[in-house]
Amino acid sequence: MEIVSEPLPQNSATPLDLEGLLERHFGYKSFRPLQREIIEHVVTGRDAVVLMPTGGGKSLCFQVPALALDGLTVVISPLIALMKDQVQALQGNGIPAAFLNSSLGFTEEQAISEQLRKRTLKLLYVSPERLFQQGFLDWLQELGVRLFAIDEAHCISSWGHSFRPEYKQLHAIKHRFPEVPVIALTATADRTVRGDIAASLGLREPRVFISSFDRPNLSLAVLPGQDRFKAIDRIVGRHAGKCGIIYCNSRAGTEKLAAKLRDIGVRAEHYHAKLEPAERSRVQDDFIQGKLHVICATIAFGMGIDKADVRFVIHYNLPGTVEGYYQEIGRAGRDGKPAETILFYSYADVQTHMHFAEEIEDPRYKEVIIAKLDRMKEYAEAQVCRRTILLSYFSEETVEACGNCDVCKDPPKYFDGAVLAQKALSAVVRSKEQISLSVLVDVLKGTYSPEVNEKGWQRIKTFGAGHDTSAFAWILFIQQFIQLGLIEVDYREHHHLKMTPAGEAALLLTAPCGS
Ligand code: ADP
Ligand code: ZN
Repeated sequence: MEIVSEPLPQNSATPLDLEGLLERHFGYKSFRPLQREIIEHVVTGRDAVVLMPTGGGKSLCFQVPALALDGLTVVISPLIALMKDQVQALQGNGIPAAFLNSSLGFTEEQAISEQLRKRTLKLLYVSPERLFQQGFLDWLQELGVRLFAIDEAHCISSWGHSFRPEYKQLHAIKHRFPEVPVIALTATADRTVRGDIAASLGLREPRVFISSFDRPNLSLAVLPGQDRFKAIDRIVGRHAGKCGIIYCNSRAGTEKLAAKLRDIGVRAEHYHAKLEPAERSRVQDDFIQGKLHVICATIAFGMGIDKADVRFVIHYNLPGTVEGYYQEIGRAGRDGKPAETILFYSYADVQTHMHFAEEIEDPRYKEVIIAKLDRMKEYAEAQVCRRTILLSYFSEETVEACGNCDVCKDPPKYFDGAVLAQKALSAVVRSKEQISLSVLVDVLKGTYSPEVNEKGWQRIKTFGAGHDTSAFAWILFIQQFIQLGLIEVDYREHHHLKMTPAGEAALLLTAPCGS
């Protein structure tokens, strides 16, 4: 196989002036942690896997080498919007860059081919589909490529949360271009995914660079899913005039929530994949320019959006994976100033995820999805510093509690909950295990809600037995009984609460005679 290879522009006697390149082309004075090491590694022809949180500055890790190397750098990216933004930004800095994907017309393609032929381009962004189109790799071989960058590299792993089958074919790169270094970058990779990236791409002795995932300026909090709108009203009010994102798990959810927010005078709009492209860009631009304060969006929103002053990110629904969650909250406070993140946790959301998981045919994949959901639940239910949990997920050791999460700020106080447990468990038994968490709270509080009236549960002996404890506190207590294994949620049956053997035993131990 013939490889066109050109000599490096500088020899080792004249070290590359990387800072100079950075300042000249990007206007930045210094590299962020690890950027320099990564760039030096790559320009000397070695493979790398880079893990950096969203906003960490991954792009420069291949853009600066592209400028330092004499020849073409090919960037593989799965998202058309992302490519377009990056290419525009590069062109804005006077760097010759272009992208090839399905959105281009014939004339535009021709113009880019011409630039490639004349070897005037430094960076070419392509979608994986495009890379494997007939004859394209042959042509790249003729042109000579100095570096391949694979963005969003976790898409290659079927263990990851956004597997793209066409990414699997990328191992062909190392076959066809064994001498050309490959840098694979991602913001979302646990240990398994990381190993998978290097192996699937056939990287040769890659060095793995992991930059800290810690974002100390983001506060972390989890609230129960009941009465979400009231809580959102308070949060949005706290950040009046400032911008925030609310992630919902359905398109209808984004539309409903945005309308409700507009009703209370908040400048809010919705965003999801089914909007017309023109409308999508308008909403996105309005948000970036601050004309819009709150964007209610599905996860379709955010990739490639570079807005530094997002002051809060709210998850209206529980995300299915910690990676997804961390990437989404990572869009808050990119300017390094304090920003708030809030996750609403409800069993109904767990049920929705379980429902999707049940439909997955591949048993191995199903297992992965359920395991990832379990990790997300553990985070939401945590009684220890939440940041410690997040960072350990990304294999980072932390020794101290962070002081900027709800658990650190208001550590749990322990007390004997036997009487509370007895009241709740006995109501579960007396409802014949046909009761959901929120209706159980109604029963304990003595609230005549429609469900209570319909089932006649005002006649349950513990009806109103917990009236002196707030509904909010009851939710937290019942969640703990679930975590302690005294009751469990039957996700297949309207998330009704069921007694466990441990719960039966606890009830026997704590029940006063005759109850
Ligand atoms: P990622 O791809 O990791 O999410 P980006 O590469 O888009 O992050 O970088 C996030 C932001 O940080 C961008 O606005 C980028 O210009 C900026 N940035 C990256 N590196 C530096 C640096 N060394 N100095 C200043 N700003 C930087
Ligand atoms: Zn903490």
